Amino acid sequence: MTFDFDLFVIGGGSGGVRAARIAAGEHGARVALAEESRMGGTCVIRGCVPKKLMIFASQAGLMAEEMRGYGWEGAQAGRFDWPVFKHKLDSELNRLELIYTANLQKSGVQIFHQRATIVDAHTVALADGTRKTAKHILIAVGGRPALPGIPGEELGLISDDLFLLDRLPRRVLVVGGGYIACEFATILTGLGCETVQVYRGDAVLRGFDRQMRDMATLQLSGIGIDLRLNVNLTRLERTGDQTRVTFSDDSHEDFDAVIWATGRDPYTGGLGLENTGVHLRANGAIQVDEWSQTSVPSIFAVGDVTDRVNLTPVAIREGHAFADTVFGGRARRVAHSNIASAVYLRPHEAASVGLTEEQACARGDVDVYATTFRPMRSMFAGSDAKVMMKLLVEPETDVVLGCHIFGPDAGEMIQLAAIPITMGATKADFDATMAVHPTAAEELVTMRQPSRRHRLEIPAQAATA
Ligand code: NDP
Repeated sequence: MTFDFDLFVIGGGSGGVRAARIAAGEHGARVALAEESRMGGTCVIRGCVPKKLMIFASQAGLMAEEMRGYGWEGAQAGRFDWPVFKHKLDSELNRLELIYTANLQKSGVQIFHQRATIVDAHTVALADGTRKTAKHILIAVGGRPALPGIPGEELGLISDDLFLLDRLPRRVLVVGGGYIACEFATILTGLGCETVQVYRGDAVLRGFDRQMRDMATLQLSGIGIDLRLNVNLTRLERTGDQTRVTFSDDSHEDFDAVIWATGRDPYTGGLGLENTGVHLRANGAIQVDEWSQTSVPSIFAVGDVTDRVNLTPVAIREGHAFADTVFGGRARRVAHSNIASAVYLRPHEAASVGLTEEQACARGDVDVYATTFRPMRSMFAGSDAKVMMKLLVEPETDVVLGCHIFGPDAGEMIQLAAIPITMGATKADFDATMAVHPTAAEELVTMRQPSRRHRLEIPAQAATA
């Protein structure tokens, strides 16, 4: 049977674009890609990229405060002009979108700027009614914000909406305690919005190392966010131009805007998967094997729609490995362990790779090398903000199982720490590495004694050395 294409990719985000470019540009496959929205997907258009630029924009107040501590009398952040920033942001996103499109075209990928759904194992239908056949179909449609299912939830905004606002809300409520909630609460308070964040648990960033979660929770309150823990919402109503929120204790308050940051769901609805026999997991994610292949041999899926590790670099790796395996004659799998990530908070970021202390303890014996200290730069300026660095070491093998950094530019540091940890470095390898002085990161190679030793059969005891 002859097909219109060797590969039809649905979704022009990080995973889909990489797979299409490698399959067509490097392996000579005939590739088409359909994208219903803007090229670049969540990361480029309504996620990582605009978010990080907003983080940069939001730190002026903290920088001014620090500069006053260095003797710059009267240093002030001034007034933030959202329309000026947004205009620049829009231009930057347009530029990136054009680059993504141009790169696909240069690789010889045929682009369809419309929605595609699946008709059968080798056929997709485009929104204009045409049908295309392909030997392989790759689903890379990502995820969509999940709402909590309470009355009036449609009155709240989702993270996508924030990049489109004409003006910033004066008083805003951010709901959730994950990556997006903590980053957006940090951004909004930094840009001058009166920010309330509510989280249903007792410390934000569930899944991260507990010590780091506690430090992040403290920092959010410390930078002026009204962070309320163990609270949820029961309903939203419109009152004039305000949104009235009822909380789980039956109290209510009015806000200019409410932002849901309550997780993301795989975007599989309406994709036509019921026509194919592709197996889904209970949460709607596409079930794939280690080759990103679904239960239908001609259909593959990468990125957030598979809900493995929902991060841009992971989707890119999965897309690349898929293209090399299927079209390049080079079988490649993606290791989903030891994946580093960072939450871009201010002033200190939270960044991790490998096991948390809690996971390491549950797994077996572990020595914890941890230090907290006030870094030179902010301490001189009069700040009490503390940095935390932690290495988790398996005593029997000396292998470093995890690294957690809470500090300025922790995201940059964890990227480098992730290399030796992925290579299986031991604590002795860290110790043999010469320090770079004076830096905060040098603590990673100068922690000589464990601060805690956990033994499976013995409760945690303080180090005696
Ligand atoms: P997360 O899963 O990180 O957080 C969701 C938050 O919403 C949790 O605090 C969760 O609480 C809470 N929540 C979920 N359902 C409800 C509910 N019904 N009522 C109240 N609270 C609820 O998702 P995000 O949306 O923050 O981020 C989505 C994904 O995007 C992340 O998994 C991450 O991989 C990626 N991302 C990565 C970033 C980075 O690398 N810097 C930045 C932004 C996003 P609980 O903890 O109790 O379950």
